[in-house]
Amino acid sequence: MDTNNTNSTKMVTVTWEVTVTCSLLPLTCGTIQTTPYKARHKTLFEIVFLGTSASAPSIRRGLSAQVVKHDEHRFLIDCGEGTQRQILRSGIGFKRLNRILITHGHLDHILGLAGLLSTFMRWEAIEELEIMGGGWALERIHDLLYGVVLRGGRSPMPIHLREIQPGVIVEEKDFTVTAFPVKHRGPDCFGYLFEEKSRRPFLPEKAEALGIPPGPWRRDLAAGQPATLPDGRLIQPDEVLGEVRSGTRFVHVGDTGDIEGILPYARGAHALVIEATYLEEERDMARRFAHLTAHMAADLARRAEVGKLILTHVSRRYRERDILEEARAVFPHTVVAHDFDAFQVRRGSTNESTNKHE
Ligand SMILES: [Zn+2]
Ligand SMILES: [Zn+2]
Repeated sequence: MDTNNTNSTKMVTVTWEVTVTCSLLPLTCGTIQTTPYKARHKTLFEIVFLGTSASAPSIRRGLSAQVVKHDEHRFLIDCGEGTQRQILRSGIGFKRLNRILITHGHLDHILGLAGLLSTFMRWEAIEELEIMGGGWALERIHDLLYGVVLRGGRSPMPIHLREIQPGVIVEEKDFTVTAFPVKHRGPDCFGYLFEEKSRRPFLPEKAEALGIPPGPWRRDLAAGQPATLPDGRLIQPDEVLGEVRSGTRFVHVGDTGDIEGILPYARGAHALVIEATYLEEERDMARRFAHLTAHMAADLARRAEVGKLILTHVSRRYRERDILEEARAVFPHTVVAHDFDAFQVRRGSTNESTNKHE
């Protein structure tokens, strides 16, 4: 079921450690007003779905695209046709949306790059554009951008088409993005693992007990450096830091016909986003076109013991409740994403809820 509620923002409780927020847009006098999404809590990773339809758009679902945010960092994953309008409707805006990860080169995942570049050229909203993906996908994107959009003209901003290999492709201060191979039609398809680096939490009660005043001393100790207090005492980080805590893991997979190769990367993830193009009744079709059924996606989630399964790339031929029913029979902690749904992936928190979405 797609919702037709157009003027509310909903919080939906999910179990485990993922909060689902559905940002739906108010309609006033025929004008769409954007509702900028604001994180309500400290968020580790946040994913906003811009398009959740397989192959072709439906009335309520755009083609594949999602934004993953971590503090000030933003990544656009895939860019199906119509993505730039979805970006506007979501309230996310184009600012800092200059790193794009591509799962594979099929048209329903890349055609929106042409329009996006065209807009960037006119508005110069960004200083440079980096598009990361497999070789085959980048070849096609190169043709689209340089053969169709630019046609010998110069882009006002540098465009970097960065061919990736399996392994860490982005390393920031407190998180990494790792690309891993995925089997779909055509070569060089990738899934992405977003992983917060492990860290030792600062324990204010210990700092209190040691009489460490607020200020740069606590900051240094939290960063793992010793600090000399105003009274001359030298405090070691071990005295105020807790046990090592592994980071939040969030896995995004685009189209795939295989779950075995994904299993090691998805293991223990707090949230897994993956396609569910078919139902079991059409398993042969799924196999033929190298896609998953909802059952297969749920089987992966169950075996990988993920916290939450978020299904996307769904076909308009099915009813959402049938997709959910099939998946939940195998893995209960499953939701089907809608366009503009936002999911906060973080550790150890309880979530309030109103208006159950499904
Ligand atoms: Zn697709
Ligand atoms: Zn595909």
